[in-house]
Amino acid sequence: MGEALPDRSCGTCTLCCVLPDIDELDKPANHVCRHCMVDTGCLAYADRPLTCRDFLCLWRTDSSLEDHWHPERSHMMVYRQGPQVTVLVDPRFPESWQAEPYLGTLRRWAEVAREDNGYLVVFTGDQVRVIDGR
Ligand code: SF4
Ligand code: SF4
Repeated sequence: MGEALPDRSCGTCTLCCVLPDIDELDKPANHVCRHCMVDTGCLAYADRPLTCRDFLCLWRTDSSLEDHWHPERSHMMVYRQGPQVTVLVDPRFPESWQAEPYLGTLRRWAEVAREDNGYLVVFTGDQVRVIDGR
């Protein structure tokens, strides 16, 4: 049995409909999906692609992330793929990941990822940085 999800909701956040590129929708990174209506959500909910159906960010799935990691507060969307941690930074707040308490936590996550042969990568607009946790 998988672990129960924390009792959290997205609220008014729509960052996962903005920050990632989504092939099925021909949606580039950092562009609002054409189906996304601010304060309403997905206008194509019943027909949304599998990528959208399967996705929840780490704040939704991992109760160890404190409230300040809510994507609307942190201005970052975080997700894991195996040992890899990916951080998509809202380009309107490009330095958010470098502020505490975020940077210290990102470095800790990077160290854990490295021990498992993974890494942590931060995308900010066109900039890509791998945090090695050292
Ligand atoms: S980024 Fe996370 S909290 Fe925000 S809408 Fe997506 S799943 Fe919900
Ligand atoms: S199809 Fe819906 S869930 Fe998927 S990115 Fe667009 S608005 Fe978000």
